[in-house]
Amino acid sequence: MPRFDAGYVPRSAMAIYAHPDDIEFTIGGTIAKWSRAGCDVTFVLLTSGNSGTHDRMFTRKSLARVREREERESARILGVARVVFLRHGDCELVPTLALRKELVRRIRRHRPEVVLCNDPQALFFGDRYINHPDHLAAGKAALEAVFPCAEMELLWPGAGPAHKVHAVYVSSAAAPDTWIDVTGTMDTKIAALSAHRSQLGDQDIAPYLLGRARDEARRAPAGTAAGKKGAGRPEYAEAFRVMRLLREEK
Ligand SMILES: [Zn+2]
Repeated sequence: MPRFDAGYVPRSAMAIYAHPDDIEFTIGGTIAKWSRAGCDVTFVLLTSGNSGTHDRMFTRKSLARVREREERESARILGVARVVFLRHGDCELVPTLALRKELVRRIRRHRPEVVLCNDPQALFFGDRYINHPDHLAAGKAALEAVFPCAEMELLWPGAGPAHKVHAVYVSSAAAPDTWIDVTGTMDTKIAALSAHRSQLGDQDIAPYLLGRARDEARRAPAGTAAGKKGAGRPEYAEAFRVMRLLREEK
């Protein structure tokens, strides 16, 4: 039975997030690390970020086109072959039963060992940022789809054969318990996020990302640095609360 600890690499993973660039900001280092180690990764983007600009040059349709292109490019940089866009309205996402069923269908089709999503309880970050309602909705819908719906045989048989996800890696969690050493993939994470030019313009995002990953690493317990025995802490890390759904078989 896997321990789902810092050194674990799943065979397959599905990241379910609200907007193009969410994955890159929060878990890009982990995705790059896992895909480099052979994990088959699927991105499921619930919206195409079609409200995400103050630039009046765009329409919602043209912005969605640009942002899907940016996401595909960024997925390529991260080593991710499969990107699914569900094309709900940006700033309009609600964790409805219909959305839950859509996600169950995707989970049952791709059968990921691990699902990654945002913490739907993370409302406030410091005193400057109220979490985007789409991030909360995406996290809630993802968790509800994983458990219990995707694994219940009698529920929505038309959505595919039941599938049990082994673990959920919850990002932006208030109480993380697992730190993944992403020191070796920070460059890839920065390159992937930089592909989102409609969001960043010419801004150099590297100092922000490095600072954030350094802060995460500082909160990591001793011994989480990859490949080092003993007291090492990683230089850069991404933090998760991990829900271990696979019970040990007796
Ligand atoms: Zn977002």
